[in-house]
Amino acid sequence: MLKEHILVVEDEDDIQELVEYNLAREGYRVTCVGSGEEALKVARAQIPDLVVLDLMLPGRDGLEVCKTLRADERTARIPILMLTAKSEESDVVLGLEVGADDYLAKPFSPRVLVARAKAALRRTTTAVAEKGAGQTLKVHEIVIEPGRHAVRIEGEPIDLTLTEFRILHLLARRPGWVHSRDQIIEAIRGEDYPVTPRSVDVHIAGLRKKLGSQGKYLTTVRGVGYRFEE
Ligand code: CA
Repeated sequence: MLKEHILVVEDEDDIQELVEYNLAREGYRVTCVGSGEEALKVARAQIPDLVVLDLMLPGRDGLEVCKTLRADERTARIPILMLTAKSEESDVVLGLEVGADDYLAKPFSPRVLVARAKAALRRTTTAVAEKGAGQTLKVHEIVIEPGRHAVRIEGEPIDLTLTEFRILHLLARRPGWVHSRDQIIEAIRGEDYPVTPRSVDVHIAGLRKKLGSQGKYLTTVRGVGYRFEE
C-alpha cells in the first residue's frame, strides 16, 4: 500500500531529523523543509496528506504558513499538526484559530508524535464523513443523536442543556482535536444569551459532571481549550 506523504517544516536540524526518522520508520513518505517559503512551494506542488509545521520559523512563520495553506483551495483541507515550544502557548490558540488541527508541544516523545500524526491522517477521511453531522455518533460509551438532541451513556439517557449538548457534539465529532474556547463559542453561537470564554469553562465543568464515568474523556488543554480524547 502506498503510504501517505508528510511534509515536515522545521528549521532546527535535530528536531527535523527526529521527526523525519520516526515518521519514515512508520513507512510514511517524508519531505523536510526548513522555511515557510519552501513549505508553501512543496505543499502547492505535491499536496501532502499531512503537514507537520513548526510555529517558529525564519521568514514566514508557522502561523503565516498555516493561514496561507488554508486560504488556498488546493491546500485548504490538508491536516496541519503544529509543533510549538512551551513559551509559545498563546500562539497555540492563534494557530488553532487560523486553521491548524492539532499541536504538539516540544519536547515531545517520538511515540506521541507518531500517534498524533496517525490521528491527523485518519481525520482526513472522517472529515469527509463529517458532512453527515446529523448522524448518530458513538464515542466510547456515549451515544449522541443530533436529530433528537439526545444523549445516552451505557444506554441511560442523560439530561443536557442545549449549550452542553452542542459543546459535546462539537468535541465528540472530532475526537483527539483541540478546540480553543473561541472555536467553541463560534460553533455554539446563536443562543439567545452571550457565551464568554469563562462560561465555556462552566458549561464544560457541568458537562463533565453529567457525563459521569465518561467525563474523563473531556480533557482541559491548559492555556488552550478542550479536547475529547480518542
Ligand atoms: Ca523553529
